[in-house]
Amino acid sequence: MAAQEAAAPVAGSDRAARTVSGAPFPWPHGARAAVSLAYDDAAPSQLDNAIPALNRHGLKASFYLELASPTIAQRMEEWRAAARAGHELGNHSLFHQCSGSQPDRAWLQPRRDLDTTLAGQMQEQVLLANTLLQALDGEHERTYTVPCGDHVARGGDYLPLVRASFVAIKAGPGSGVIDDMRTLDPYAVPVLAPVGLTGAQLIAIVQRAAQRGTMVNFTFHGIGGDHLATSNEAHEELLRYLAAHRGEYWTDTFRSIMKYVKVNQDKPTQYKETK
Ligand SMILES: [Zn+2]
Repeated sequence: MAAQEAAAPVAGSDRAARTVSGAPFPWPHGARAAVSLAYDDAAPSQLDNAIPALNRHGLKASFYLELASPTIAQRMEEWRAAARAGHELGNHSLFHQCSGSQPDRAWLQPRRDLDTTLAGQMQEQVLLANTLLQALDGEHERTYTVPCGDHVARGGDYLPLVRASFVAIKAGPGSGVIDDMRTLDPYAVPVLAPVGLTGAQLIAIVQRAAQRGTMVNFTFHGIGGDHLATSNEAHEELLRYLAAHRGEYWTDTFRSIMKYVKVNQDKPTQYKETK
């Protein structure tokens, strides 16, 4: 897509303020891209492997908890510790309802079929999940990841009923790299769910985000175990790369990144033209 330049005032001889579609987004501290590392479903390997690795590298991430997951009841103090370490405990609903009428949903338990759950029930459950998460971490703001990317319940789309309770929503599959931060809908952020990729492949994706000057959204599941797994080696290689290139990549919770994006989305880019 060609960059379109709007008519804009020139504020000084060496400096011009212009609104340019597709121009680099003004990330904090001159970073080239933002990186959201997210981990869905409260899988045990996230507590065992992902969080210790993130903490070793001093990187912050978002963990989307399905509140009915056994690790919530059994390892609650570890999730609390993750929040204290700066990670976001994100909402991934109480029961992880997905649409049974979609392909490849043989694994779905009938009582958790989104097709037979009322939109109003989803609304109540997702808001209750926020209350339970607040009891865990004391936070009043967080983000949501839609289970399976499915949001049409019985009686309609439930996302409009819960949207106001979130900073932002990760809502479904995509390449992971955002095309344009200024046109991104904070309530329909596409994610990439890598499975079995190598460290080099993961790093190539974050480099694409840097080339575009936008953001990359990874939604991992198991790390070094569990379902839809990424190996510990590949995960470690990605984290090592991000930690070694902090100036280029702003890796933070989806909550922090999207709060920043929402404030800055409408501002024109400030160019400082060098001679
Ligand atoms: Zn999930």
